[in-house]
Amino acid sequence: MLYIGSHVSFSKDKQLLGSLEEALSYGANTFMFYTGAPQNTRRYPIDDNLTLQALNLMKDKGIDYSKVVVHAPYIINLANDKEPDKFKFSVNFLQEELERCEQLGIKNVVLHPGSHVGLGEVNAINNISRGLNNILGNNDVTILLETMAGKGTEVGKTLEELKEIIDRVEDKEHIGVCLDTCHLSDAGYNIVDFDNFLDLFDNIIGIDKIKCVHVNDSKNEVGAHKDRHENIGFGHIGFDTLINIIYNERLQNVPKILETPYVDREYAPYKYEIAMIRSKEFDNNLIDKIKNQI
Ligand code: ZN
Ligand code: FE
Ligand code: FE
Repeated sequence: MLYIGSHVSFSKDKQLLGSLEEALSYGANTFMFYTGAPQNTRRYPIDDNLTLQALNLMKDKGIDYSKVVVHAPYIINLANDKEPDKFKFSVNFLQEELERCEQLGIKNVVLHPGSHVGLGEVNAINNISRGLNNILGNNDVTILLETMAGKGTEVGKTLEELKEIIDRVEDKEHIGVCLDTCHLSDAGYNIVDFDNFLDLFDNIIGIDKIKCVHVNDSKNEVGAHKDRHENIGFGHIGFDTLINIIYNERLQNVPKILETPYVDREYAPYKYEIAMIRSKEFDNNLIDKIKNQI
């Protein structure tokens, strides 16, 4: 079964119910959300009543909540401990995020491993795993390390770096990986032959660790290290390669999440992209249709 959705908003007033309604309006059967603005630390208490209403609506609509994921705020950086206060803040904020997820009943949280900001990969890997070891095991939430594009000093741009982190994490049951197609391509991986890539992943990390895929096209060519997402089929990865990834049998039960850009910063593309993905046929006029909402 295809689990396809996009990132959606999570508002103070409607919370999980609002996120679900947005996802349903796109024809999605899964989704991803931030529990608050990704770039700040303001968080509102979770309203269990809204969560319950959302869970009931999911039951009605046949949505499998175990496929819904949260994205941790990207101000968290476990890689750099140059300023002990900042590192501590990241650890604490991530811990609080996992507690919010537990209250929401969310099982998987996507996390950017972090940027080493001059410390180098080896120190960063030690810091990240130390941070994770402080947090994991306190509840039943799994952290999915996202494959990164290698922009600036990002860690997690190679499968070997991710493996090094995972090797140092004590609670192996609660650590996994989220593939991001734009980031993989920007990091220099050839994902045209995706089965070949999965074999490589399986050799290094183990394919069972993949719990989520971010499906994005890329504005840049392979190896560009830029991390600029493009709408499905309109970038350098292309429609056929992305369809191959989305429908790969080995990742059949893994949710696929779109993080493609709004058109003209105004129009959400997800309803259109999801329909196009379901049809498996590229629509050259999709951007115009999104702009005109037809
Ligand atoms: Zn991410
Ligand atoms: Fe992503
Ligand atoms: Fe990205």
